[in-house]
Amino acid sequence: MSANNWVMCPSCTAKMVTAFDAEERALAAGYGVISPETWLTKRRELDARKRNGLTADKHSFREDYEIGVRNGEFHVNYLGQCTTCGFSYKFEHKETLKT
Ligand SMILES: [Zn+2]
Repeated sequence: MSANNWVMCPSCTAKMVTAFDAEERALAAGYGVISPETWLTKRRELDARKRNGLTADKHSFREDYEIGVRNGEFHVNYLGQCTTCGFSYKFEHKETLKT
């Protein structure tokens, strides 16, 4: 495959959102239980992370792909792999051109 691109990993992003939601629930449960100063510090931290957008490493998912016509066939080959979590996705399609 010839072309490549680095993007945010969909699996890492989903895991990060799940972890963030767990932190939000833990903070909500801590209201009135932990000290107000600690609670406010954590609230501000979570709000700042939310404002900045929840993003995983933007360059951990490598995409290699190729699309075109060759020897009377149309083909699409795609492989995406994360260097952080190992998630991968592969897609291949080929069909004979009807000329
Ligand atoms: Zn990943």
